[in-house]
Amino acid sequence: MKPAEALKNAYILVTGGAGYIGSHTLVELSSAGYDFVVYDNLCNSSQEALKRVSKIINKDVKFEQGDIRDKKALQNVFEKYNIDSVVHFAGLKAVGESVIKPLEYYDNNVNGTLVLLSVMKEHNCKKIVFSSSATVYNEVTTKNYIPLKEDSPTGATTNPYGRTKQFIEEILQDFYISELDFKVVTLRYFNPVGAHESGTIGEDPNGVPNNLMPFIAQTAVGKREYLSVFGGDYDTYDGTGVRDYIHVVDLANAHVKALKYISSANFNIKNATLNIGTGQGNSVLSMIKAFEKVSNKKVLYKIVKRREGDIAKCFADASLAKEVLGWQATKNIETMCKDSWKWQSNNPKGYET
Ligand code: NAD
Ligand code: UDP
Repeated sequence: MKPAEALKNAYILVTGGAGYIGSHTLVELSSAGYDFVVYDNLCNSSQEALKRVSKIINKDVKFEQGDIRDKKALQNVFEKYNIDSVVHFAGLKAVGESVIKPLEYYDNNVNGTLVLLSVMKEHNCKKIVFSSSATVYNEVTTKNYIPLKEDSPTGATTNPYGRTKQFIEEILQDFYISELDFKVVTLRYFNPVGAHESGTIGEDPNGVPNNLMPFIAQTAVGKREYLSVFGGDYDTYDGTGVRDYIHVVDLANAHVKALKYISSANFNIKNATLNIGTGQGNSVLSMIKAFEKVSNKKVLYKIVKRREGDIAKCFADASLAKEVLGWQATKNIETMCKDSWKWQSNNPKGYET
């Protein structure tokens, strides 16, 4: 029984909504007319992001601070709000850190998802959109099945982070089979970059960035001396690694489409695991060039040895998302770089004021 004061509107619960992709998704959810509540323990984000989202959407953001592993706290949220569906971003995401702290990653990501699913079940909430990753396609797959289709082999990923995504995908499939009417859409993101066009929200990594785009941006703004390009001898068009970079706002919109799909009569589990990428592969040097063009800044770089665990090429066949969700990426790499630069140059210290 929900308490009398339970809110009657149907809400989308956005776990990890204060983070990079989550905060951008809130903006798109709001423009599509969804009401939502953010649940986040702020372990890798700040409430400042939510304040800024609130400014963009011109509306208060409902926020409940808590950990997805904290069953009681989650139950309270499900009792306070009428949760129709969950968009599940909450998780730890640093590949290198996951090798050093595997138990933390399994606990946070896998155990956290189990707790979330059990609370959803208790409260008869039957729809979830899950953040998976192209990392579930392994090294052998990326050599033999480019562009990657959803039915390309997965598993045997090289690190605990990737394995948490693989395990959760499988857990969700099992749960789908066991629960009448439970629906899941799994989105396999390629490489999210860029920021909201306002330049007020964006990616705010702790310490030295692991990912290419924030490193390029911090080099351009003068925070880093130069960028190390990991490997110049790959079998790619210029020898540097090729990835499918996708604008975070395009990615955010895929969640809105996924929510529509999950509630539609067309929902079909066979088409519910979807690549979210542009279908275009761009090299590290192409990204540097595009960034220099839009920022009018020089990005100093040195080609160094390959980073362990890196692959040569990874890009999506994104046609299924177009067919099933009616979604496709709209923003090119210049826009991705321009928006990253606007965010970085307006906020050289990220959300820290
Ligand atoms: P992020 O770190 O910016 O956001 C994750 C959010 O989850 C943070 O706000 C963090 O505080 C919160 N969180 C983490 N553990 C939590 C817990 N136990 N309880 C409550 N909140 C918790 O990361 P992001 O880039 O926005 O990624 C969002 C999701 O997308 C993650 O699941 C990530 O693995 C996945 N993903 C990200 C990328 C990428 O390159 N950014 C690529 C593929 C998949
Ligand atoms: N990369 C690089 N220097 C960096 C960070 C990344 O050359 O400081 C390269 C990396 O080798 C890969 C591409 O940029 O070819 C994207 O790396 P990122 O870590 O952003 O994403 P992922 O490897 O997870 O796809």
